[in-house]
Amino acid sequence: MSDETRELIIIGGGPAGYTAALYAARANLRPLIVIGGGPAGYTAALYAARANLRPLVIEGFNWGGQLMITSDVENYPGYPEGILGPEMMQDFRRQAERFGAEFVTDDVTRVDFSEHPFRVYIGETEYRSEAVIVATGASARQLGLESERTLQGKGVSYCAVCDAAFFRDREVIVVGGGDSAMEEAIFLTKFANKVTLIHRRPDFRASPIMIDRARANEKVEFLTSAVVEEVVADNGQTSSVRVRHLDTGELQEISAQGLFVAIGHDPNTKLFLDQLDHDQAGYLVTEPGSTRTNIEGVFAAGDVVDHTYRQAVTAAGSGTMAALDAERWLAAREGHPGTAATAPRPEAEKAPV
Ligand code: NAP
Repeated sequence: MSDETRELIIIGGGPAGYTAALYAARANLRPLIVIGGGPAGYTAALYAARANLRPLVIEGFNWGGQLMITSDVENYPGYPEGILGPEMMQDFRRQAERFGAEFVTDDVTRVDFSEHPFRVYIGETEYRSEAVIVATGASARQLGLESERTLQGKGVSYCAVCDAAFFRDREVIVVGGGDSAMEEAIFLTKFANKVTLIHRRPDFRASPIMIDRARANEKVEFLTSAVVEEVVADNGQTSSVRVRHLDTGELQEISAQGLFVAIGHDPNTKLFLDQLDHDQAGYLVTEPGSTRTNIEGVFAAGDVVDHTYRQAVTAAGSGTMAALDAERWLAAREGHPGTAATAPRPEAEKAPV
């Protein structure tokens, strides 16, 4: 922070001045910062707020995560009639807010976990905390077409498990050549009449057993060496997909009410790779059965550590684990291990909100 933008200048170096400086510094020090505003981050914030940890959630400029590009969510327990993805995220956020979580709607630009308390930055603004939960999620890779973006939630989906049931007796297209594409194509045949799997090369990246399973399914048709060039809409809903055959350059329009893009996910971990242990694909690695990372006091939850399940409900569960892990860790530091749930938190209670 430059001198011009300081919120407080203390004149005088005597006991009164130093005490004022100490309190001013502590006001900026939080027990917990949660980075990420999806199911994992908001659930972690809810539990942490209810444990008096005054969590600050730096939720990202585009808060809400992958559910913001989902229309109806019908597989989250507690919503028997289903709910729109963005509405559900607002509910998550409001519930955490009700118990005292605070939010900064901006993107973290840098973290420094090399010394304690940790430092988290948004541009030049520094936030400090005793513990950090990283819940920045993963992003489904997109084809990068304008029409794909416009029709997200209107036929274009990135999750067959979430959305397949909306395509009963319809025709759908899956794009991709890896295990996810095979798995999604097979899953979609439970509902759809016909599934066309489009891949940009003649050879698949998927494992042979997954390819064999997809080939054995009579509802799955393969179209290789082809790319999707445009998603076509009728009345605002996906109605067909324009495909270019790479061998001949020919264009073909294929009728489809659904387009499932299954070309992989990227974890949102760029900020942490030099400080936190991660695997080859960039997912953070935590101790088995916990959300602890390689740095004491830094926890990770949700899709940022999860290659496998990637569901809102599993991310929320993982956010709960991270909040409980952080709470126990903070309680142990304060000298009352084993009593995290009932530990007094004078610092949290007294600090100005
Ligand atoms: P992946 O293995 O990275 O495959 C992505 C596929 O999408 C590739 O075939 C790639 O084509 C294609 N692709 C990438 N960008 C594209 C673009 N812009 N346009 C068109 N196509 C594009 O991703 P994944 O299938 O999600 O699998 C990720 C990991 O999870 C893998 O290790 C996989 O084995 C594992 N997994 C396992 C299972 C299972 O065992 N049941 C299920 C799902 C996932 P190219 O091949 O030409 O690069």
